[in-house]
Amino acid sequence: MLPLDRPNGYFLELEPAADGRLERVATILLTNRECPLRCTMCDLWKNTIPFRTPRGAIPQQIRFALNRLPPTRVVKLYNSGNFFDPLAIPPDDHPAILRLLKHCRRLIVENHPRFCGARCLAFAERLAGTLEVAIGLETAHPDVLARLNKRMTLHDFRRATELLRSHEIDVRAFVLLQPPFLFGETAVQWAVRTVRFAFDCGAVCCSIIPTRGGDGLMRKLQREGWFRPPTLAQLESVVARCVDRVPGRVFVDLWDIRNLLRPKPSPQCRTASATLPIGDGCPGCIACGPPRIARLRHWNLHQTLE
Ligand code: SF4
Repeated sequence: MLPLDRPNGYFLELEPAADGRLERVATILLTNRECPLRCTMCDLWKNTIPFRTPRGAIPQQIRFALNRLPPTRVVKLYNSGNFFDPLAIPPDDHPAILRLLKHCRRLIVENHPRFCGARCLAFAERLAGTLEVAIGLETAHPDVLARLNKRMTLHDFRRATELLRSHEIDVRAFVLLQPPFLFGETAVQWAVRTVRFAFDCGAVCCSIIPTRGGDGLMRKLQREGWFRPPTLAQLESVVARCVDRVPGRVFVDLWDIRNLLRPKPSPQCRTASATLPIGDGCPGCIACGPPRIARLRHWNLHQTLE
């Protein structure tokens, strides 16, 4: 079983704030009870426990990480589920968590719209800094969203975002690139449409996540032809179509990015090209992958591809 006296992971990253300034962000991956929702593409249960999180464990995990990371004023508490699910993060621990974060200018947590209620609003009111809630919007394609078993409609996302914004809580949207049932250029177009939809609802930033395959249901869907892992080229296309066309920051999730690379150089690969044009025909292979990933890292930090 996963230990409960320390987080599943913690690290420092850089992220631009809304005004473009680069900020150091302490990201802490908490271990807690697994999410009760069962979204088709979710593999986050691997880092969770099957029973109610005992009181005191979450503050202990946060303290463990903060004591080992350099001081930061922006903290992400990602808990492989919903921060305001009382079985995952015991509400009795909220006062201790608030005390640990009293130095914090911004706290980012992940949460499903059905947990964006009174508990969330009360926590935000007592937080010293600003709360930002990251919601898995996944896709604005209504039929695909329903088939992902997300137990959320586009209307639910809009309503939750409006409620949070009306209480001065910011919203970040997670957007899936090529979820099951969407493929190729259509998947790219829907990722861009989903980013636009999120901003239209009031989100302040979006994070694009290349959909991961894996085991269980996703492997079955892949075998049956309903899912295909996205390529690096698709990811670049989404970013290129967002440049100067959306009103907020767009980040690319690069945690598992090397898994997208084809293990052999593709015949279309033009690694020799100094500029590595986007859409050169190579889906992204081990030869051209590293500089292309570096360009996406640059995009995440500076929101420009140049
Ligand atoms: S709500 Fe989030 S954590 Fe829960 S099953 Fe869905 S994707 Fe996974």
